Order: sequence, then structure tokens, then C-alpha cells
Amino acid sequence: MGECIIQGFNFKVNSGTTIKFWEHKWLGEESLRAVFPTLYGLSAQKEVMIADMINDQDQNYWKFQFTRVLQPWEEDQLQTLSQLLSVVQLQDDSEDCLQWKWSKDLSFSVKLAYSKWEDQSFLENKELLSLWRNICPPKTELFAWMAVQDCIAAKTVLVRRGVIPGDQATCTFCKSEEESPSHLLLHCHFSWEIWSEIIAWWNLVWICPQSLMQVFHFWSNIRFRNLEKLCWYASYYATIWTIWTSRNESVFKHKVWTVEEIVELVKTRVAIWIKGKYDIKDYSVDDFRCNLAAIRRVRI
Ligand SMILES: [Zn+2]
Repeated sequence: MGECIIQGFNFKVNSGTTIKFWEHKWLGEESLRAVFPTLYGLSAQKEVMIADMINDQDQNYWKFQFTRVLQPWEEDQLQTLSQLLSVVQLQDDSEDCLQWKWSKDLSFSVKLAYSKWEDQSFLENKELLSLWRNICPPKTELFAWMAVQDCIAAKTVLVRRGVIPGDQATCTFCKSEEESPSHLLLHCHFSWEIWSEIIAWWNLVWICPQSLMQVFHFWSNIRFRNLEKLCWYASYYATIWTIWTSRNESVFKHKVWTVEEIVELVKTRVAIWIKGKYDIKDYSVDDFRCNLAAIRRVRI
């Protein structure tokens, strides 16, 4: 099911430093690997990013390396590929991003996502739709939606796909158990403490859910209204998103986190997202973090 929404996304190339030249869909509807399987098979740069393929001095020159000399018909394919690439201009100063191909302006739209899935009978489980609240940045709600279905690149998933060896699946945080999506985002004692701190921030008593979907049920069963309700839902998405992005900083930049640091980040994100989207000017980020009781009384 996670694949369905992924099909709607294309990469928008800017710097080209985070998009894989062969593997990702960034030039048309298919990956270059799918369109030029022979060239991909012969490539000596299968994992390379777009930016690493292009010549710094001359952006029209692409640095292909193959494992043997190409046959004439393969040279023809390379010629075709080069023509396709001739329109590409990298923008060094801005980051690559995702765009949603089913909307007119290519931005991600939750409403369009709904109708698209219903059109294509993608809805195996309507319960999952309740995860879309259109309260937080779409990428964070999308991430939660994928996370409850185990469709995120946690280490056990990467092992299953053959991306990393089986003996490298140890959890980034606790370094003792396997890093499955549900372990990483919920059951790991490190993540569990983060959830518990967020629940304590709300002065609530925590139950013991088995899955992220059950955590969401817990969230949905508490009937808040107005601003309080928006902040409450934002806390769910911000917790999942912040655990994940912190984990990535640990993996890729070797950052070491404390529970407290991540909890503060979650609270700050809730404040920034809600203040930004609902134009809440009378309360500061610190009011959200340190005086949630006052925010909860606000009617909008
Ligand atoms: Zn763990």
C-alpha cells in the first residue's frame, strides 16, 4: 500500500546530490534503470547520485563509466539517453525535493491523494485514511501513514530488500534489538521514553499500545476541540517524525541524542507547525513548550 502513494511522487532535481541517477524516478515516469536496463547492467556507477555523474565545468558532459566497451547498439542507447539528459540543468544552491505528479502545480495534495486512491481501489483499509488530518506538513503525515504500514527504511526493511547485510540490523538507539519500523518508532525503550514524555506534557495517562496504529487510536479516542485538538494531533506526527529524523542524524552524522533533546524538538515542532498553519500570533513557541495549559484553552 505504501507503494501506491510512492507512485505519485517524482523527484524534482535541483542540486542532484540526493537523487540516485539510475534508481530514482526523476526524468520522466520511470527510473533510468527501468528505461535503459542494458546500460544500467553495464554501468560501473549503479549507486551514483546525479551530481556525481555530471562534469563540474561542463554540465552537458556526463561521466559514464561502463564495465566494458559498448557495442554499437548500446552506443545508440547511450546516445538516446544523452539526448534526454541534455535538458537537465542542476541548481547547486537548492536542495532536491519531491513533487506530487497528480496535482496541477506538482505540490502534494492530501485531497487529491484521497481521490486518487479511491479511484484506483487502493483502499484496502479505510482506517488508514483517518491518519490524514491535513494539520501538519504533508511529508510528516505521509511518513506516519507509511510508518504504520512498516513501509519506512528501517534496518530490517533494508535487510529484507538486500540493501544492507543481515548482521547490520541493530537498532540505532538501543544498539541491542533489531531495528524494525515498530521497534524504532515505538517499542525501543529510548523511543518509548520520548512518547511517555509527550503524554506527560499533556497530563495524560499512557496505555500500552502494540502498534503505531493503536497509538493513533488512543490519540483519536481523546476528544479535544479547537486549538487543543490540532496540537494534540500534531504531537502524534511530530513525535514520529522527530524520532525518525533524529535517528537519521545518528546514522548519517553520528549524532548522539538524549531523550530530553528529542522531546524538546517534538514540542518545538508542534509549536512551529501549528503557529505557522493557523496564524497563532499571541503565543510564542515557548508558550507551547512550557505552558501548554494556556494554549489548550484558546478557541480558534
Ligand atoms: Zn532500540
